[in-house]
Amino acid sequence: MLPRPAEIIIPSPENLVIKTAGYAAASGTTPLAPFSFDRRDPGAYDVQIEILFCGVCHSDLHTARAEWGGTMFPIVPGHEIVGRVVRVGDHVGTFREGDLVGVGCMVDSCQSCSACAEGEEQYCEKGMVGTYNGIEKETGSPTRGGYSERIVVNEKFVLRIPDGMDPAGAAPLLCAGITTYSPLRHWKVGPGQKVGVVGLGGLGHMGVKLAHAMGAHVVLFTTSPDKRDDALRLGADEVVVSKDEEAMAAHAGTFHFILNTVAAAHNLDAFLTLLRRDGTMTLVGAPAHPHPSPGVFNLIMQRRSLAGSLIGGIAETQEMLDFCAAHGIVSDIEIIPIQQINEAYDRMEKGDVRYRFVIDLASLKREVAAAA
Ligand code: NAP
Ligand code: ZN
Ligand code: ZN
Repeated sequence: MLPRPAEIIIPSPENLVIKTAGYAAASGTTPLAPFSFDRRDPGAYDVQIEILFCGVCHSDLHTARAEWGGTMFPIVPGHEIVGRVVRVGDHVGTFREGDLVGVGCMVDSCQSCSACAEGEEQYCEKGMVGTYNGIEKETGSPTRGGYSERIVVNEKFVLRIPDGMDPAGAAPLLCAGITTYSPLRHWKVGPGQKVGVVGLGGLGHMGVKLAHAMGAHVVLFTTSPDKRDDALRLGADEVVVSKDEEAMAAHAGTFHFILNTVAAAHNLDAFLTLLRRDGTMTLVGAPAHPHPSPGVFNLIMQRRSLAGSLIGGIAETQEMLDFCAAHGIVSDIEIIPIQQINEAYDRMEKGDVRYRFVIDLASLKREVAAAA
């Protein structure tokens, strides 16, 4: 494939020609509703994908309800996309019509900074382009996500879904999977280590499966005692209800690594004190409100680290998909029609997800056909 000269792309809004139906929120306080927009005609390096399934990430909810600020309305969320290639540009080398592919949280980056050169496009120094709520360089228009019929993406940001993997269960791997895989790899989680995962939601249940597959001793921390059996089934060796102070104290100073996926502000000290000397807790949960500041002495006394991590690069995402295929891992999902997305958001807000909602886009096709 020829390198793409990103700097000479001139936005051409007149290129927006592919009518596409989706679901969008018009404001932070309105429910998602049918919305129609245009995708760009695929360029020489682009792949056009008919979307089959799209996972529902808590980041979709944070963005649609404007909890983080900066949402460009109307917003079409969705960045856990699996679909079928239906068209490719002249210079596309990796994919062809009929391939089962995925798109995660990014659809573009500068391709020339040191982060991009090292395969860490999510940390692009010029800013990666999000799959939704970003600005598409080719057209100058807002990017729109996977709660829609189709998407057009530069092939560099398209992933191959391994043969035999269930397409619906694969969808959440494109965000929840890579967001947990990347820090587990970066902090070198493996056999002989005691690893904590905080929160059993979309990210947390993937964290448990992946850390278990990497050979660690996995302890799941939850606020929901009724998730205990599921956590053990998913690969946890132990389950601790984090409100139980005595059970928490029994693990003080013993963890090599803790992956914190909680979507709400909470007391970080309760988990920092569980780290052993030189242990690290990495935050991937991105609550709308700040956590109370942790006590500095909890960090300095045992040289502990508190860190953060953002999704993962494209090459690492492919590595994660191949790792999941090799270990028989997909997400545990509840499939919903797109017409139930607002109820799904309400349930996700309450922690009532086992363990990822995935939209079947056939429901949108039926809605479009009925309206025609
Ligand atoms: P989710 O499915 O809603 O899971 C979050 C889990 O956190 C819940 O299931 C619950 O687990 C726990 N939780 C929720 N509220 C809580 C509270 N008030 N106190 C304690 N625990 C609570 O969400 P998700 O899709 O996994 O996303 C989790 C967070 O990661 C979100 O903030 C999301 O925006 C963020 N995220 C970050 C990245 C990144 O690149 N860093 C990528 C994707 C998502 P229990 O019932 O087990 O306690
Ligand atoms: Zn996400
Ligand atoms: Zn870059």
